[in-house]
Amino acid sequence: MDLNLTKTCRQCRRELPRDVSHFYIAPDNKDGLRTKCRQCVRDEEKARYDADSERVLQRKRERYRERAAMFSTMPHYTAA
Ligand SMILES: [Zn+2]
Repeated sequence: MDLNLTKTCRQCRRELPRDVSHFYIAPDNKDGLRTKCRQCVRDEEKARYDADSERVLQRKRERYRERAAMFSTMPHYTAA
């Protein structure tokens, strides 16, 4: 098999056609394509996004608790 026609993803080890529909472009790389396939890059970005949104949520919850605690010490704001 002509090795130049396929490229093995460094992450999932699948052998895929060496083209831009399977690999993202990376101008800095020797062959102009990234070492991980699109699927793996997407999974990675999704995992990072999920981790980020969990952190943001956590911070929001902390801020809410702080504000709730602050308001509870101010009779002015809690009075209906
Ligand atoms: Zn892959």
